[in-house]
Amino acid sequence: MARRRILHPRSIGHTWASVYGVPGEEPTVMRTVRGWRIGALLAAVLLPLAAAGEPGVAVRKPRLLLVPESVVNETAAQQYTQIKRQAAARQLLNRSEPVVTRVRAIAARLIPHAHRFNPKSAQWAWEVNVIDAPMVNAFCMPGGKIMVFTGLIDRLKLTDDELAAVIGHEIAHAALEHGRARMSEAVLKQVGINLAAAYFGLSDLGTTVLAQAAHLAVTLPYSRSHETDADLVGIELAARAGFDPRAAVSVWRKMAALGGAQPPQLLSTHPAHATRIRDLEAALPKVLPLYEAARGRG
Ligand SMILES: [Zn+2]
Repeated sequence: MARRRILHPRSIGHTWASVYGVPGEEPTVMRTVRGWRIGALLAAVLLPLAAAGEPGVAVRKPRLLLVPESVVNETAAQQYTQIKRQAAARQLLNRSEPVVTRVRAIAARLIPHAHRFNPKSAQWAWEVNVIDAPMVNAFCMPGGKIMVFTGLIDRLKLTDDELAAVIGHEIAHAALEHGRARMSEAVLKQVGINLAAAYFGLSDLGTTVLAQAAHLAVTLPYSRSHETDADLVGIELAARAGFDPRAAVSVWRKMAALGGAQPPQLLSTHPAHATRIRDLEAALPKVLPLYEAARGRG
């Protein structure tokens, strides 16, 4: 039951059409791209999250944010609804009340801290659901749509701190708008192909461009820099919420050890790099004071 199989580019295409208020007709990609503020594209922002000497991590927001946030979040919400519907039809959605309660309680502590990395996240319609399936997987789609698979919890025997590490990492991807960046990259690549096609008099490729971009954005692996930034922000979210950020190290160790014939699904979209654990360990001193402070308050 891979995500690859439950997301259908065609239905995503209909989503794009409905976003633009043209029932049954998708906008051509060039008209769409012209309508967006391309000038605002390349603003690399170093988030001023921690002043000098204060605890906390520093990460860069993605540079390429061509597709508007509202379009990305709307598309993600439609896909999320579709995933929930398909899971519910097979009686796999939120089947165990104690598990759902546990996952939602952990997410609820993490979510309020996402605004430090993306103030708009305070207005998102966050959702947290659980699919009862043996896949070792979890994700947070743009706009705060979180899904956890029971295989992640059961097969890795996760503690609350470790589960918070995974959910925090996923929330970090959403807060840093990595999905939006990937969708924008995919659109630009397709526009390049489309322009070439137009020049050489080939058929119009534009109508499916956005749908394909949306599909790629949720199925392709995150880049190494996105992974590193999500690791850093993830441990800060966990620390601020009072979860031991050192659990991020143990959870990636467990993930790697599982390996074997069926490596965790999560690793296909979150590729591990050789220095991940070392980098996490090196960053821990920046967030451990936040953890101590949160525990002191709790
Ligand atoms: Zn990741």
